[in-house]
Amino acid sequence: MQKSAIIQRSELGWQAQLRNAISSVPQLCEILEIDVAEARKYSDFEPDWPIRAPLSFVQRMRVGDANDPLLRQVLPLKVERKNVSGYISDPLGEANATPQPGIVHKYKGRALFVATGSCAVHCRYCFRREFDYENHKMSRQKRKRALTYFKEDTSLSEIILSGGDPLMLTDKAFYDLCDDICNIQSIKRLRIHTRLPVVIPARLHQDIIQRLAQLPIPVVLVVHINHTNEISHELGLALRSSKAAGLTVLNQSVLLAGVNDSSQDLIDLSLRLFDYGAMPYYVHLTDPVTGTAHFDVDINRASAIMGEVANALPGYLVPKLVKEQAGLTAKQSILASL
Ligand SMILES: *Cc1c(COP(=O)(O)O)cnc(C)c1O
Ligand code: SF4
Repeated sequence: MQKSAIIQRSELGWQAQLRNAISSVPQLCEILEIDVAEARKYSDFEPDWPIRAPLSFVQRMRVGDANDPLLRQVLPLKVERKNVSGYISDPLGEANATPQPGIVHKYKGRALFVATGSCAVHCRYCFRREFDYENHKMSRQKRKRALTYFKEDTSLSEIILSGGDPLMLTDKAFYDLCDDICNIQSIKRLRIHTRLPVVIPARLHQDIIQRLAQLPIPVVLVVHINHTNEISHELGLALRSSKAAGLTVLNQSVLLAGVNDSSQDLIDLSLRLFDYGAMPYYVHLTDPVTGTAHFDVDINRASAIMGEVANALPGYLVPKLVKEQAGLTAKQSILASL
């Protein structure tokens, strides 16, 4: 496929873009002009968890570069099949923090709602790649029960829509869900964790932004961007509009070997986010999930990298380095070594 064809496709609506997403490694190699025979040596052409990458995201990858930081996030590798001791399917103990399907309630005052089981992109490092989405699959009844749970536990003041990706819902289903949550008296903030607009910027259209801005409670939009190259101008403008409309716009990243594990990568990312009105929030250390060990960055190196970031930027552009540990009541903050 020619690059011009990619560009044309990225002008389609978000659902059409989703349907046209890359779903095979050879197809991706062809677009990026990467030698397929060479790729077959290290890449898994038939992974258990399929490749998925929308063309508008692929368009931001460098042609001919097998080490491109965006490509590395989506390309299935043979090393994923390696059994590494200590790497399990549910390292965060989410199954124990699930009072009922669709809800993960671990922290005081806030609960996470798994609004859908699917995502627009399959990130190879994902800590939910082994998540029991079947059990969490949304049905009318589960949704109703979840809303009842949120209403009855009056210690909850914030609901986090997560997934999967909550923006995979249709506009109508998404708006209805937001309205239902806002109608609960004790809920004071609504948070949306999403990566969809990052891979398909057209998803964060003006109607969604305006609807969120008009909700009766403050909305925090947390996007998930790992590398500066992910921020196309179109995405940047959507983030800027979200902020202008009154949303709080934050970013979280995962620290990934071979993707963004240098202070310069993180410095560039913070600066670009700020250009478009988004604030860096968290940088997560990876979780020990089956098939992801090759993405790990050692904790001491991570804190040295964050030290360099802290030495280079104003404090408000330095994201907090965190690690999630099963059983703890908040994400654990790791100090930057200066
Ligand atoms: C990360 C997370 C949250 C949100 O934590 P904050 O520190 O408030 O960003 C809430 N619930 C669960 C289950 C989480 O994993
Ligand atoms: S978008 Fe988020 S939940 Fe979905 S695969 Fe990527 S990291 Fe995982």
